[in-house]
Amino acid sequence: ILKVEGLTKSFGTNQVLKGIDLDIAPGERIAIIGGSGSGKSTFLRCLNFMETLTTGAIYLDGTRIGRVVGKDGDKESVVYSPRTLCDVRKRVGMVFQQFNLFPHMSVLQNVMEGLVTVLGKSKGEARQIAEAELTKVALHEKLDAFPSQLSGGQQQRVAIARAIAMSPEILLFDEPTSSLDPELVGEVLRTINTLGEEGRTMLLVTHELGFAYRFATRVLFLYDGKIHEQGTAEEIFKNPQSERTRAFIARSS
Ligand code: ATP
Ligand code: MG
Repeated sequence: ILKVEGLTKSFGTNQVLKGIDLDIAPGERIAIIGGSGSGKSTFLRCLNFMETLTTGAIYLDGTRIGRVVGKDGDKESVVYSPRTLCDVRKRVGMVFQQFNLFPHMSVLQNVMEGLVTVLGKSKGEARQIAEAELTKVALHEKLDAFPSQLSGGQQQRVAIARAIAMSPEILLFDEPTSSLDPELVGEVLRTINTLGEEGRTMLLVTHELGFAYRFATRVLFLYDGKIHEQGTAEEIFKNPQSERTRAFIARSS
């Protein structure tokens, strides 16, 4: 469904991603683990083009995103039209560490907004979808509340409902629980787990290794801007091949 080829990303002279290849099948739940600064967030941001790629290509259902307009040595010039980017973001949804809700809008309005402005749905239809998604994350009693009146866990569940309401084909989560108080982490992980059981294709950056072990169909260990090791949760957590992976897991659990 999503394929990444030779992805590199530099900020100035700092090469953060050093060549990533990944082929994601429908229904896969991929956990991305790795140390601070290893490029996890940058990688996710590249996947929905919140960062431009320095080199490499991303394909959605076999179609390359962006149009190659020229080549300078082995570096391609690629243009991404606003329309293309909008289309990608409809298909690849993202949930952030800091929920990023609109503070001046109610819970219901937060979830309706993209449905109306991006997908062009009528207010009535948007409201129906939004209420249904908010019910799934157990927030039907908070439709008229504002984000500031909610706990962190509730705010994150609104952010998840907002992402799901857009019916993305792929969902990206960047440390969705790391800014939550410990007692609120569980409710958000349960929500994410339910999405996984529905067969959604998801990529999750997380420091919750216990959850990653139960949740993921595949685990990627990112180190120094590359996929250092990958495998099933069983392989990575119980029998890592690389000493570096082993040390990271020992340190983090
Ligand atoms: P953490 O676990 O702390 O969230 P991470 O694995 O998500 O770390 P990234 O946020 O992807 O790491 O950052 C990787 C590197 O890229 C860091 O060295 C960071 O300083 C650099 N970086 C990220 N975004 C930018 C930016 N917009 N401009 C310049 N450098 C950046
Ligand atoms: Mg990060």
